[in-house]
Amino acid sequence: MSAKSVKRPRRQFLSNSLKVLAGVTVSAALPRELVDAKSLGFSAPRLPGLLERQGLLKGRSMLAARPAELGSQLFAAIPRPLRSSALQIQSLLDGIKPACRLSMTAEELRASISYLKSLDCRFVIEQVVVSETLYAQLSPRRRQQLTAKARVRVYLAKSAADARRVAKLESADPDYYALGLALGYPVCCVEAAAKQDLPHIDEEHGIFRQANLNAAAVRASSTADFRCNQFLAESDLEGVGPVSVIAHYPCTLGCRETAAMGHAALESSARAWPIWTITLCELLRAPVLYWSDDSWPPEYWDEYSGLALLEAREVGPGEWRSILPARLLGSALTPAGTVPSFVVRVKTVGDGILFENATGDTVNHSFEQCGRPWIIDWRSGRVEKFAGKSS
Ligand SMILES: [Zn+2]
Repeated sequence: MSAKSVKRPRRQFLSNSLKVLAGVTVSAALPRELVDAKSLGFSAPRLPGLLERQGLLKGRSMLAARPAELGSQLFAAIPRPLRSSALQIQSLLDGIKPACRLSMTAEELRASISYLKSLDCRFVIEQVVVSETLYAQLSPRRRQQLTAKARVRVYLAKSAADARRVAKLESADPDYYALGLALGYPVCCVEAAAKQDLPHIDEEHGIFRQANLNAAAVRASSTADFRCNQFLAESDLEGVGPVSVIAHYPCTLGCRETAAMGHAALESSARAWPIWTITLCELLRAPVLYWSDDSWPPEYWDEYSGLALLEAREVGPGEWRSILPARLLGSALTPAGTVPSFVVRVKTVGDGILFENATGDTVNHSFEQCGRPWIIDWRSGRVEKFAGKSS
């Protein structure tokens, strides 16, 4: 694609994204956004009617309220196993990513293969060899579930030679540093991961464990940029559509290189799926309540444990409320109990956290058992322990 052909949409999307980022209420802005989307020349003629029929135009921020329904409409032509990776693939096709690496079961590959063949790129498939260090960032039960079925990795690139080259970097003698760079990840993030991501025997429990790179990034962050947010990649929205604009662990939540890369991907997204991009920005800007599993027993190991508090606002010290239910990140299992679904309020109460769901039911989890979570407010850039400095 020539620079000329992308120039106009890019400039216009920037102004659109600024409206979204400036916190414009989507219900008021949506008709205008739809007009803007159309004026960009995107083919979305059926969308306004479609959204209206689903009631998505009513109320406040209703796009983020029903992402699953919206995703199933917008990404109907893409096989379900590829919907989460649709933006990574799109970025490759748009020439802003050198290569792409997907992980799926052999069964999912069968459902996706014709679609993959239809794309203007080449790919190489490798079977995943099961070893005791595989998925070592997860609980032993989860590792078993993931390896119970045959799994493959698919490496996509514009040329067959490039796809083979990337696949080779993860073959018998893997070079994860070179692999990260070949996939176009920022050097700072590849270096941070290479330094920390070494599987080791957890001495207390005698099983392999891999560093939690999400917790490491949170700890290293003094600020947060929503384009570095990949927490929804493992959430109850998985498979709905692209819910992250990056495919790597950022070195920090404010990594400038990652944010720039994420921005380019957002522009790709806006050209392909303008309405989804508005939704995606809202999802990525939802404050994240995040627990590190560092001191949890193995059965709870999960590097994506938390809640994305959609549309939530801080109404007092250590209290956040929303009209939309939070999305669950990771397995929702913590040593203090299961994080409830449909949470609309979280609050520190004594030495614990209270969750309230949409029907008014409440559950308390003690910090002594699950630790004090972080709150990541992508709108203000704040990253801190939830209600207080103590941990
Ligand atoms: Zn970085």
